[in-house]
Amino acid sequence: MTSMPRFVVTIDGAAGTGKTSVAQELARRLGTDCLDTGAMYRAIAVLSVDHGIAPDDGVALAQSIQVLGIRFDWNHEPASILLGGVDVTSRIRDLDVSGVVSIVAKQPEVRKVLVEQQRRIGEEHPLLVTEGRDQGSIVFPDAEVRFFLEAKMDERTKRRVKQLRESGKTVENSQVLQDISERDKIDSTRTDGPLICPEGAIVIDTSNKTMMEVVDSMEQSVRAVLPT
Ligand code: C5P
Repeated sequence: MTSMPRFVVTIDGAAGTGKTSVAQELARRLGTDCLDTGAMYRAIAVLSVDHGIAPDDGVALAQSIQVLGIRFDWNHEPASILLGGVDVTSRIRDLDVSGVVSIVAKQPEVRKVLVEQQRRIGEEHPLLVTEGRDQGSIVFPDAEVRFFLEAKMDERTKRRVKQLRESGKTVENSQVLQDISERDKIDSTRTDGPLICPEGAIVIDTSNKTMMEVVDSMEQSVRAVLPT
C-alpha cells in the first residue's frame, strides 16, 4: 500500500516571536490548516487548573486527557480547541493557565500523548503548517520545510501584551515579561522535546519585520519546493 504524499511545514520558536500569527497566515495562503500545538499544551494546563490536577502529575494528566479528549474544530479559522467537548479557545490564553503550561509541558507522559496526537493530525492533513517548540526537531523531523523564529525580548513582550489586550484580557507589561521569561527557561532546559533550532531550519529574526514581510519570505521558501 502506498501512503499519501505529505508536505509538512514546521515553525518553531519561543513565545512572542510571532509564530502563531505567521503560521495562520501562511496556512491561509497555502489553502490548508494550521496546527497550533501550544494550544494543546495550554488545554492540558486548563485541565490542571480547572480540574485540580497538579501540573507536575504527568501520569494523572495523561490519563485524564485520554478520558476527556482534546480535539480541534477545523471548521473554525483559526481552529478552535475543545477539552472534553468544551470550547476552551479563550480560556487557554489566561495568565493563570500560561503560568503552569510549561510545567505541564515538561512532563514526558503528557508530551508522549500529544506528540502521538500531533502525528495523527499530520496523517489526516496531506499539507500542514504546524507550529510549536519541537515540531521540526521531534514531531516531524522529516518536514519538507522547517523554520525557526527569533525576536528580541522587548519586542516579544510588546507583541504578547498587545495580543492579550486585543482579546479583552487585562495584563501588565511586567506580568507578561515574567511569564515569557519563565516559560523560556523551562522550555529550553527540559530534557524531553526542548525548544531548539531544528537542524537545517531557516532562521528568521522577526524583531524588525511586519507579519506580512515574514510570511512573504516564508511563502517564497515553501513555494520553491512545494510540488505543483
Ligand atoms: O506557543 P505557546 O506560547 O502558546 O505555547 C505554550 C507553552 O506550551 C509553551 O511555553 C511550552 O511550554 C508548551 N509547548 C511545548 N511544545 C510545543 C508547543 C508548546 O512544550 N510544541
